[in-house]
Amino acid sequence: MTARPAVLGPVVDDETRCIHYGTPLDVVAIRFACCDAYYPCHLCHAETADHAAQQWPLESRGERALLCGVCDHELTIAEYLVADACPRCGAAFNPGCRLHTHLYFEV
Ligand SMILES: [Zn+2]
Ligand SMILES: [Zn+2]
Ligand SMILES: [Zn+2]
Repeated sequence: MTARPAVLGPVVDDETRCIHYGTPLDVVAIRFACCDAYYPCHLCHAETADHAAQQWPLESRGERALLCGVCDHELTIAEYLVADACPRCGAAFNPGCRLHTHLYFEV
């Protein structure tokens, strides 16, 4: 098994919760298109990175850009957009993240 990719920003535990989103369901980190680095959320990126966030273009739906903080599985964007839970470990994902889809991915 490969090591988990680094998750940047104010992470508060090893399931990728951060100072902004800390509920039991907040276990997904996003790899940002602009800097190829994982952050727990868009606020973490805004506060930590030195540049504006870019969204993954539509043609990048096959990129593995989501990290399950529970089991380290990396989901493709296409998988994540239709998943309510991690396909490997079954950890439930926060349905509220849907409201922020446009911050991470072109829609
Ligand atoms: Zn970035
Ligand atoms: Zn955050
Ligand atoms: Zn998982």
